[in-house]
Amino acid sequence: MSSTTPLTDPGARAAVAVVDVTKTYGDRKAVDGVSLTIRRGEFFGLLGPNGAGKSTLVEIMEGLRKADSGSVTVFGESPWPRNTALLPRMGVQTQSSAFFVRQTVHEHLRTVAALFGADRAAVDATLGAVGLDGQHDVRVDDLSGGQRQRLAIASALVHGPELIFLDEPTASLDPEGRRDLWEVLRGLKAEGRTIVYTTHHLDEAEALCDRVGILVAGRLVVTDEPQHLIRTFGASSRLLVPLGRIDEERARSLPGVDGVLVQGGHLVLETRATGRVLAALDTVTGLDGVQTRTPSLEDVYLDLTARRTPLAPNNQEQQA
Ligand code: ADP
Repeated sequence: MSSTTPLTDPGARAAVAVVDVTKTYGDRKAVDGVSLTIRRGEFFGLLGPNGAGKSTLVEIMEGLRKADSGSVTVFGESPWPRNTALLPRMGVQTQSSAFFVRQTVHEHLRTVAALFGADRAAVDATLGAVGLDGQHDVRVDDLSGGQRQRLAIASALVHGPELIFLDEPTASLDPEGRRDLWEVLRGLKAEGRTIVYTTHHLDEAEALCDRVGILVAGRLVVTDEPQHLIRTFGASSRLLVPLGRIDEERARSLPGVDGVLVQGGHLVLETRATGRVLAALDTVTGLDGVQTRTPSLEDVYLDLTARRTPLAPNNQEQQA
């Protein structure tokens, strides 16, 4: 990787540095005072409900939109107004990626590659990596939704960019395609590339991302490593006990049980002390048929996005 930017600028050591950025549409704050540093080589996931401001924030980072206030640097340089020096260093896939629809898959990617000075070998290798090997001569118009998605991803990767923005890249992929793409993305990360990833698949974020940021109503409510988030927010484990084995009242009184509810033929015991509750259950009913569900990033996400009042960034407050 090359850098021509002075190292005295803190933004130069980061891939992306966003400082107190706001963007308002009419009276709606789409992005509301967001500060965020994405390190070089980091796999960063941007999560949040629809309308939270993810696309707006990412498009500001990409230099496609101008922030109302605050500053953004990419490799130490401002992406706005459109910075041609940065373009070859960035790869962008969006949900509305444009295609040369009358061309074949191979022609399309050759055209994209030529714009960035990438060669034919890169085109072949990239089509292979995204699983479009057998589609070289298919017209873009005739591709399925999932194949188009793969081509959009290939178009973002073909010139070997250092910083890759992917917007729900697995949205139209089948489960096998999803897993294949995960491997491609892990390979890109292993090569030291930086990836900024928006997704609604929390399992995906948990499996792939070094850190995630959760946006709610334009504010970044938390930024952390997925596993650390799960520990910090103390999301509960759930023990599923077949109905009829223990009554609700008795279950509620077991040491370590935080809550009890009935769900789909089970009494669900919520706890942050799984071992204690299992031991107590063993004494009362035995553990036959008891299932354990460990907390996931999805539990934390659902807790955080259900809040009315956003937390301060990196707030350590626990769920009651
Ligand atoms: P997300 O990507 O998280 O779904 P967006 O960034 O697309 O969120 O949108 C954030 C908010 O800004 C939404 O309320 C959306 O309606 C609004 N918004 C986005 N783009 C525009 C635009 N070009 N004009 C007006 N409002 C917009």
